[in-house]
Amino acid sequence: MSKETKHTSISTLGEFGLIDRLTKNIQLKNDSSVLGVGDDAAVLDYKNKQIVVTSDLLTEGIHFNLMYVPLKHLGYKSVAVNLSDIYAMNATPKQITISIAISSKFSVEAIDELYEGIYLACEKYGVDLVGGDTTSSLTGLTISITAIGEADKADIVKRSGAKPNDLLCVSGDLGGAYMGLQLLERENEVFKVNENMQPQLAGYDYILERQLKPEPRADIIAAFKKLGIKPTSMIDISDGLSSEIMHLCKNSGVGCSLFEDKVPMDLQTKQMAEELNINPLVAALNGGEDYELLFTLPLDDYEKIKNDPDFTIIGHMTEASEGVNLITTGGSAIPLQAQGWNHGK
Ligand code: ADP
Ligand code: MG
Repeated sequence: MSKETKHTSISTLGEFGLIDRLTKNIQLKNDSSVLGVGDDAAVLDYKNKQIVVTSDLLTEGIHFNLMYVPLKHLGYKSVAVNLSDIYAMNATPKQITISIAISSKFSVEAIDELYEGIYLACEKYGVDLVGGDTTSSLTGLTISITAIGEADKADIVKRSGAKPNDLLCVSGDLGGAYMGLQLLERENEVFKVNENMQPQLAGYDYILERQLKPEPRADIIAAFKKLGIKPTSMIDISDGLSSEIMHLCKNSGVGCSLFEDKVPMDLQTKQMAEELNINPLVAALNGGEDYELLFTLPLDDYEKIKNDPDFTIIGHMTEASEGVNLITTGGSAIPLQAQGWNHGK
């Protein structure tokens, strides 16, 4: 699916030539980025702030499939999902480092495309690329990203602060990224059988974007500041709502009641689920890759968020002894499982 026209072998540039080509236009924009690419290490100055650090490792064939993921999108998404972890601490990302292992099947132009996506995300979220590493691999592409951010000590939100009776809230809607992936995989199977078939993707732009170009919720962190809210606990939804709720409950030593009919889902998510005969709730609970924020708030904050369309209250925390339950539309309580929970249609 690549649009590249030229195919320059990386060996014509060599490692240093490639690094130089990829990083020559960097202009550092954050005060905390004192020294970027070009030395043995970057230098950062965070003064009196606390530093938040997170890494992700992505391997071809496991985390992404280049049959239907354009390299530019892959670059963007790799950065976006990493920044999501920083926002999930109620912190602000400022720098990233990118390390790549590339096999000989990748051209200079292909890596250019990957970096176009990386820089687009850096621009959008105000982060500086300050370093990385480049090496060769026998097969496929591996990308490792580290993001560094800042927060005042008092602002940092962990997974561990939820209390019984806190409201359980989520930003945006869920299940879309998973349904987008199902659609891409279906069309890829069709393509493998007949290369002349055009993919049938019309009308599903929202779920495709959820899968291919997720946006970390920087806006939600900003909204917290504006509304004078500090969640008692928070996590980003990378693995699915179920698994993230279990993390909050375990780390906070509480239970939870999640209400089935409150889980926000987009119309396209439901339509695709219907088409593929999947329960959309299962996509929301177990699908993952939505990169929304899941957080808990004291009841007193209800008035501050009740009219905000970006937030949905999906349940409340309970004593640990009550367990972690999905309350179905019919009113029965089903213990939530991190994986494989299945709902009779
Ligand atoms: P070293 O030999 O010390 O590992 P390198 O030659 O690998 O140094 O890197 C030179 C500079 O380029 C360093 O500042 C490093 O952080 C940066 N760099 C290397 N690879 C990448 C990459 N893929 N993306 C961004 N910066 C990179
Ligand atoms: Mg190196």
